This record gives sequence, structure tokens and C-alpha cells, in this order.
Amino acid sequence: MLPRPRSSAAFAEAKRFIPGGVNSPVRAFRGVGGEPFFVQRASGSKIYDLDDRELLDFVGTWGPAILGHAPKVVLEAVADAASRGVSFGIPNALEVEMARTICAWVPSIEKVRMVNSGTEATMSCLRLARGFTGRDKVIKFEGCYHGHVDSLLVKAGSGALTHGQPDSAGVPAALAALTITLPFNDADALRSIFARDGKEIAAVIVEPVPANAGLYLPKPGFLELLRELCTEHGALLIFDEVMTGFRLAKGGYQEICGIRPDLTALGKVIGGGLPVGAFGGRADIMDYLSPDGPVYQAGTLSGNPLAMAAGLAQLQELERTDAYRKLERLGAQFEAGTREALLRAGKKFRFQRIGSMFCLYFTEGEVWNLEDAQRSDKAAFALYFHHCLDAGVYFAPSQFEAGFLSLAHTTADLEFAGHVVAGALAA
Ligand SMILES: *Cc1c(COP(=O)(O)O)cnc(C)c1O
Repeated sequence: MLPRPRSSAAFAEAKRFIPGGVNSPVRAFRGVGGEPFFVQRASGSKIYDLDDRELLDFVGTWGPAILGHAPKVVLEAVADAASRGVSFGIPNALEVEMARTICAWVPSIEKVRMVNSGTEATMSCLRLARGFTGRDKVIKFEGCYHGHVDSLLVKAGSGALTHGQPDSAGVPAALAALTITLPFNDADALRSIFARDGKEIAAVIVEPVPANAGLYLPKPGFLELLRELCTEHGALLIFDEVMTGFRLAKGGYQEICGIRPDLTALGKVIGGGLPVGAFGGRADIMDYLSPDGPVYQAGTLSGNPLAMAAGLAQLQELERTDAYRKLERLGAQFEAGTREALLRAGKKFRFQRIGSMFCLYFTEGEVWNLEDAQRSDKAAFALYFHHCLDAGVYFAPSQFEAGFLSLAHTTADLEFAGHVVAGALAA
């Protein structure tokens, strides 16, 4: 590991005042060892650390930076909005523009409410589903991460998984007991739980493409079965598209798979890098929300004008530039480079990709669920991660996180990454 004296000093200081020195656990690099670098600034596909090193970034602030870092359109939109005030706490037109855009892009969303994070979005979906159905139980899938919501920190992915805490302390057992967890892609397990508990299930929440335990895809028919069983038993289907929404297609993964969830949680790309989430769906369900309905939900900063302006600018740029076709091309190029590197190194590791999201699992077996993903060689991944970082390429500091491409990545960037990956795999 290359020394980073300024980052090290900053991290030592951070640890005095911030638990673990970070405001979100995965940033602490515990999954790979060593210490995190501190950012000086970021631009396009690059991050510059405090020690003046340039890093080619494949994390993209964990998904939001789909245009790259500090895109001009977003900076201008934020500056323009800020000149008229940074928060109102009373309706503003940008909120309506955002809501109209989301409803137009995501056909299953008839009404939408803005929140400040993906966690708030999934938490609110659950409360709404429980209020609407009058039932308490929810089903989630092992390795899926839906933010740090009490009911959903059961066999969760992302940082919870990296840190070996898929079940958090502090979640009342009585609450966790209402969460049923199942392996992803297991149709039989799904059928039998619905046969047993169908009448008590308020909702099933799922990342349609699970991307918080690496990245794996739904088997053909699995999400269709989920839709069918929910409809049959009067449970709501919640797609957590916080990561996949506006990243894989204008209408999220639901546009690609053609399945209509009852509710959808959104975040990340929708905020253009500002703290934003949203949840929406069937109008008859959304009308259960306060002030029209009995389910309470609120937010002092929800619909914040800077956040709306940043998000709208990002979404409009995606539409203007035919982004999803370009991202697929970049993804295919990155995949080709990685597969060539694997071949050259004589390694048969699993590389998985959809559009601009990817994961290289350090295992040779197929990966369709959390158990498969956990067969990866985490020690080998950690060595690979540090080799890449030292050579100037920043991948997510955990085997159980997806990687992201942005429109700012160039062909030259991807060629460079291919060389670095080849070197790291051969080392
Ligand atoms: C990141 C993420 C969340 C949580 O969003 P935050 O903004 O971090 O609260 C929820 N669900 C999925 C699928 C995510 O990837």
C-alpha cells in the first residue's frame, strides 16, 4: 500500500470526533484493510486525494454520479437555484417539475413524494404498505440492502454485510420477527412462504437487480412469480430502485423487465449528488399518505430547491444525451477489457454486468444469491483492490459492492483500467 500521509493524518483526526472516522461504515475500508483516502476534489471520471494522487473512479459516490463528478449542468442548476434561496419549507415549483418528470419516466408511479435519502424512501414504503393493507409482516431477500431501516436490517447487504453485521444491534427482536427473509431467486421458498403466511404479508420489498452484495440478476420468471404471488395474496410489491432507478433505463429496471410494482423507492441518481430520495406508485396507495390519508410521513427539507434543481438537471442531461445507449457501450467495453485481463491472468472469476453496473466476484462458481456471492475469496479481493488503488484505479472497497461507470468515462480511461486490472490479477 502506498503511503498517503495527508489522508492518514486527516483520518486520525476524524477518528477523534466521528465514530470510526466516517459518516457511513463502508468508507472506513474495513472490507479491504488499510485506511481510506481523503478527497480533495473530484471532476469527471477522476478523484484527487489529499496527497495529490489522481484516481480513476468506479464508485461514482456509490451511484449518483452518472454524469461523472461535478458536471457543469448540475453545478449551474444548483448555483442558479441557490441565488433564489436554499430552503423554503413551503411548496416550490421545482418539486412539481420533479414529480411530473418521475411520473412520466416511471410508468408505475402515478404519484410520488420526495424525501432526503434512499433509507427514508424504503422506510416510508414499508409504513405505507402496512397502513394500506392493515398487515404487519414483510418479506425481504438475503443480501438485499434497503438502507438502515430497523425492519430491513435483517440479513442485509452493503456495509452491513461487509462489516459482518447483516443483523444490527438495536433492532427490537419483536420488530425483526415481522421481517421474513428468503434467498433471492428461490421460487420454491417464495411459494411456500406465501402458502403459509400469505394473508399476513403487507409487502415484499426487493432490489429487482440486487446490487448490494456485489451484483447478481434475477432468474427468468422470478420477479414475474413475485408479482403474481403478491397480487394473488393482496400483498404490495415494492421495488427498491434506489440504485437501479434512472441508472439502467429512464424507467428503471421495471422498464426493462416489464413488471409493474405497486410502490417504488428511488434515490441516488435522482438527486444529482445532493441528498435526495423519493417513493411513489399507485395513486390509490399514495393517497393513504398524510395529509389526505392516515399514514404519517413528513420532512423539513423534503423537496429542497437545490436538491430538486440538481436532480432535474441530471435527469434532463441523461435524456438529452441518449445516455443509456452510451452507458451500455461503455459497460460493454469495460467488460471486454476485464474478460481479456481474466483470460491473460488465467483466472476464471465471475464478472457480472448490467448496463453501467458491474461486479468482479473472486469465485469461479455462478452467483445467483447471497450464499453464492459469499464463496468469493475476500482476501484475494483485498489484495486486488489495493493493487488497483495504488496503480490509480478506485474500485469499491468491498467485494460486496457494485462498480459504476459514468458518462464521463472515456475509452482511454477504460483502456487504462484494463491494464491495471490485468496487472492486479496477475500479481
Ligand atoms: C443505497 C441504497 C439504499 C439507501 O439509500 P441511502 O440514500 O444510503 O439511505 C437503499 N436501497 C438500495 C437498493 C440502495 O442501493
